[in-house]
Amino acid sequence: MANVTINKAGKHYGNFEALKGVSFDIEDGEFVVMVGPSGCGKSTLLRMIAGLEEITSGEIGIGNRVVNDLPPKERDIAMVFQNYALYPHMTVAQNMGFSLKLKGVSKDQIKEKVDRAAQILGLENLLDRQPRQLSGGQRQRVAMGRAIVRDPQVFLFDEPLSNLDAKLRVQMRSEIKELHQRLKTTTIYVTHDQVEAMTMADKIVVMRDGVIEQMGSPLELYDRPVNTFVAGFIGSPSMNFIKGEITPEGFKTPDGILLPVPDVTVKGAGTYGIRPEHLQIDPNGIEIEVVVLEPTGSETQVIAKLGSQSITGIFRERVTVRPGEKMRVTPDVSVAHLFDKDGKRIN
Ligand code: ATP
Repeated sequence: MANVTINKAGKHYGNFEALKGVSFDIEDGEFVVMVGPSGCGKSTLLRMIAGLEEITSGEIGIGNRVVNDLPPKERDIAMVFQNYALYPHMTVAQNMGFSLKLKGVSKDQIKEKVDRAAQILGLENLLDRQPRQLSGGQRQRVAMGRAIVRDPQVFLFDEPLSNLDAKLRVQMRSEIKELHQRLKTTTIYVTHDQVEAMTMADKIVVMRDGVIEQMGSPLELYDRPVNTFVAGFIGSPSMNFIKGEITPEGFKTPDGILLPVPDVTVKGAGTYGIRPEHLQIDPNGIEIEVVVLEPTGSETQVIAKLGSQSITGIFRERVTVRPGEKMRVTPDVSVAHLFDKDGKRIN
């Protein structure tokens, strides 16, 4: 196991700057998720750590070594790709043991390591099958097995669950998390799915356009996003953003609706952020007009109008109003967020 240090890492593709000098440290044994919208540079950074992409500027260290000029195979990392990249003509056991065979490890030792990984992943009965005889989830497990047998210092995952259906994705998510709890290998995981980031990470790094917007524990990001980008990216359904003015009486929307605000001294134009789960049904609350109701059984999502702006609420209790009708809600002011006109957090 090892720590990983990323120091002002930059990447140019010709004139295009894909990564603008990002820095952060990953501690030994930590599970870090890099998340962000398509094109933010997360895969590029992962590939730079793996040695599959040259580092234009800055330094990347694994353990106590700067790895900038080391080829991938000398970095002591193992990567799991989105498409698994299994050899179709090899059995599961051969796929898992292949990298060890290349290294000249003895047959007995390969068998021992493959059997151990198979046992960890529940693949014992599938070792003689070929990839085409496996389900998507089983293939995913073989790809992880191939990484485990190498006993690397760092696991790198590049969107490993993207090809799985929703149910399997949830299952594999907890399997990867459990695997990490068991092996405690430093892990860097790239995804565009904020739910994966929230549920798996010790630390999340949120990226946009080649820079880090914020990093911290999942709940730090959920509770205190530094700007509207992170606030809107983390949490599902997304935080409501209501435009208006911070005044001494409260937050005033252009329609003259007054929302209660956290204690701030700043005044002027801004954005009021409230998560759908932080609205409560309240007969004395603020009037909203229901547009769409989406009951899931356990809860109801209400998409509504607050004056001329859109607002979404999620309620555990049954909602009896119908589209076009009014209901009253109150935002929980203790978890309301205020952002300035540039989208920066001010409370
Ligand atoms: P996605 O989730 O879509 O994979 P990403 O955040 O992982 O997105 P990267 O693949 O890291 O994004 O790409 C970052 C930026 O660099 C993108 O704008 C992409 O078009 C650009 N880019 C990536 N690879 C190359 C390349 N080989 N040549 C030129 N530009 C590239």
